[in-house]
Amino acid sequence: MITLQSVVKQFATKKGTLTAVDNVNLQISEGEIYGVIGFSGAGKSTLIRMFNGLEKPTSGDVIVGGDNIAQLGIKDLRKKRQKIGMIFQHFNLLWSRTVFDNIAFPLEIAGVAKAEREQRVNELIRMVGLTGREKAFPSQLSGGQKQRVGIARALANDPTVLLCDEATSALDPQTTDEILELLVAINKKIGLTIILITHEMHVIRKICHKVAVMENGRVVEEGPVLTVFGNP
Ligand code: ADP
Ligand code: ADP
Repeated sequence: MITLQSVVKQFATKKGTLTAVDNVNLQISEGEIYGVIGFSGAGKSTLIRMFNGLEKPTSGDVIVGGDNIAQLGIKDLRKKRQKIGMIFQHFNLLWSRTVFDNIAFPLEIAGVAKAEREQRVNELIRMVGLTGREKAFPSQLSGGQKQRVGIARALANDPTVLLCDEATSALDPQTTDEILELLVAINKKIGLTIILITHEMHVIRKICHKVAVMENGRVVEEGPVLTVFGNP
């Protein structure tokens, strides 16, 4: 369970204080696929970056699996982050490493032994459908394949939550659907909670159970997708 209580995030800018996230309260249940939609600048990215401590709330609490993220020490936060995977619009892969080594990277950091690492990477490669591409470099892959590497890497340490920051926004419509179907399959297979942000209603309608609509840092509507958006 993830709970946000009265979460505010402000940035100091040249023009004064900017409130990027303005008193947000949310509850996300285990195993849910939860979407956050809004226009550019609405505060979506700032919001999900608080789930894994990439941003610290100015006030309020972000509680993930019983831990108040902002109150964790550096060591505990590092441990917690292994259980909160993240994927990105531009994939953020390591360009000089192969597919295999990109996926192995978080396992190396976590200190997993070589034999176990190899077994786990092979399992992840199968899960995301990249068998045969182990030795390829990211520059040799299509956008969809790059995001499959991103997903496998994010799942390496067996997280309970996956954060998706506009993860399909750089992909064409067909590849977007393939990646969304992969996320649904993973959600069903391992019961992972998925939180995704997007500016595309199609993405929410296709896979999300619930949705929060953000405007100017506020959640203006929230609930089951069909309740919030109605039937197509
Ligand atoms: P979205 O993801 O919905 O596009 P963001 O969370 O990226 O929105 O941004 C929300 C607002 O916060 C925007 O006005 C943005 O310019 C501002 N913002 C985000 N990060 C920073 C930062 N590090 N410093 C100053 N302003 C920021
Ligand atoms: P797109 O999302 O448009 O498909 P890419 O995946 O090609 O973009 O690139 C995403 C980001 O990684 C970009 O900021 C790009 O500059 C950078 N990048 C792409 N290829 C390489 C590379 N071979 N070496 C270093 N950086 C790269």
